[in-house]
Order: sequence, then structure tokens, then C-alpha cells
Amino acid sequence: MELQRKSRSGCFNAGPVCGLLQIEKGCRTSAGRENQKMISRKEFLRKSAVLAAGSTLPLWLNGVSTKNPGPPDLTILYTNDTHARLDPFPENSLEFSGLGGIARRSSLVKKIRSEVDHVLLVDAGDVFQGTSWFDLYGGSVDFELMTEMKYDAMAVGNHEFDRGPDGFAEAARKAGFPILAANYKVRNTPMNPYVQRFTTKEYKGFRVGIFGLGIPLEGVVAPELRGDVISRRPEAWANGMVRSLREVHNCDFVICLSHLGYHYKGSRMDDLKLARNVTGIDLIIGAHTHTFLDNPVYITNPSGKHTLITQMGHSGVRLGRLDLYLDSAIHAFEIKSKYYVVGRSEA
Ligand SMILES: [Zn+2]
Repeated sequence: MELQRKSRSGCFNAGPVCGLLQIEKGCRTSAGRENQKMISRKEFLRKSAVLAAGSTLPLWLNGVSTKNPGPPDLTILYTNDTHARLDPFPENSLEFSGLGGIARRSSLVKKIRSEVDHVLLVDAGDVFQGTSWFDLYGGSVDFELMTEMKYDAMAVGNHEFDRGPDGFAEAARKAGFPILAANYKVRNTPMNPYVQRFTTKEYKGFRVGIFGLGIPLEGVVAPELRGDVISRRPEAWANGMVRSLREVHNCDFVICLSHLGYHYKGSRMDDLKLARNVTGIDLIIGAHTHTFLDNPVYITNPSGKHTLITQMGHSGVRLGRLDLYLDSAIHAFEIKSKYYVVGRSEA
């Protein structure tokens, strides 16, 4: 109960998901524009102001106490549902006026890279759709710019299917980073060369495994857009990925880039249910529900350990940051969390 309460209070607006309904309507406006209305401007600015000051919230202590931790061993930066929002929101925009923009995000990332030893930069999907940049370039410009920013990985979002598997493949040729979906079967489709299940990174002996989970496509992506791509049960594939990453690839830390969505009533799989039911995921970076989580939520998974869940709203108005501090055996760590309001926060 406590966890449920926490998770609700941590989420001040979960916008509607962007799925089949909008595609059928011609989802040109989709997430980027429609969600401008979703969060009260006053509320957003009030909450933004707190974090814009650059406060760091001690978050999660997992067996190690570092009173004066010094520089982090690994800094994870992340976005989700950027929805082709390459320019900042216009000054006369009803919501997020003047915020966001990929150039500012890039500067922020560059500045953070200059201040810490190791950065992992990831996105949890739905880079496509939302502005005329997508109408003109079909996502290829977004992927080129993300490659320049040195993104390490992203998950496949449902809007990555908006031009079908061929359209995805055409844009994905510009992506110099792995695009992940462990539960999508893409063999014999044009997506096959560009989508993989997982990737691993190593930072001074600390091995990080990253896998992607896509939303079940049925009812979300129109059949003619998903082609021969088959989505399989996220929970089962998450269990398999965790076992493989920990036991075969010797990962110390496992991240799931999830495009499932933060929370749904009923039995539909979401990040909260995934965290409660799967052992061995340290961090879920979520997407799809456009949820602004001011602080990550932590859930006790079946093994009694914690799984952390976070999500940064949409349209690139926020950049999330988690700093990991490891103990000498690199088995225990402390994580601190903050986020930047892009266009307002200084690194
Ligand atoms: Zn989505």
C-alpha cells in the first residue's frame, strides 16, 4: 500500500498513452502537441522550480553508506517520448513555453560529460511523431542528432512503427546506437538489422546490461504498420533477459528501457507490475504514458531487493539524471537522483 501511495504521489500527471486511437485519427499532432494541455502550467513551473535549482536528492541506499561520496562512478542520463520535438516549445505555447529543444539538451549533456568520468545516455522510445520534423524527415534527423550526442541505446516505442517497418529501417540507418526490444520478434522484417534484444557496457569493471521492452502491439499499432513484427509477453522476456545478462554476461547492474507505460488499472502489464513480478532488474527507465516522475519510485521485487522506476514526461522538456556510487567491491551502490528542466536548469 505504501508503495502504491508513493507511486501515485510521485506522478503528477500521467498523460494519455499514444496508441492506435491517435494513429487512426492521423496522429500528426499526437503526443507532442496534445500533451501540451495535459499538465497545468502553474503546477509544472512550481515543481520545475524546485529542481531547477539543481538539488540532488539522496535516493536509494543499497548496502553502502557514502557520506562524502565525491564524484559518481557512473552517471545515467535519460529521456523518453521526445516525439520529434527538436525545437524548443514556442514562447506562445500554452504549456512548456520556451522549454526543451535538442540543441539545449545536447549542450546540457556535453556539460555533464565534462564534469563526470562516465556517462550512460539512453532513451526509452517514441522518438518519432509529434512535429513537422517527423513529417519531413521520418525520424532520421532525430537519430542523426542522437548519434551526435552519443546516445548509448534506446527502446522501440510504438510510434517507431508510424511509417511501418520499412520507414523505421530507413531512419534507423542513421542511428549509431543499438535500438532495443527483447520481446519483439523482428526476424524476416526490415527492422531486423536495426533492432536487438540487449547491449552491455563496462565502466572500470562495473558491467551494465541494458535490455528493451516494447509495448504489446495488438490494439496499439495498426496491423498494416506493424507488418510481420510479433510482440511477445514482456514479463517472460524480461525474466529471460535478466538471467542472461546476470549469468551469461556477468552484469552487475541491469537496466530495462521500457516502453510499456508506468501504470494501468487492471491486468495490462506496466512498469509497476513488471517491477513487482520480475527479480533482478535494478532500474526501469519508462516511457509511453508520458509520466512526469519527480522522484524515482522504488518497488520491492520478489527477491526482496529494490527495483527503481523513473520516467521523464515527454517532448524532451526534462533530462533525467541518476548518479551511481559504488563500493570498493562494486556490488553495492548508492544512487542519487535529479532532473533538469531543459531550457531552464543549469548543469
Ligand atoms: Zn508510446
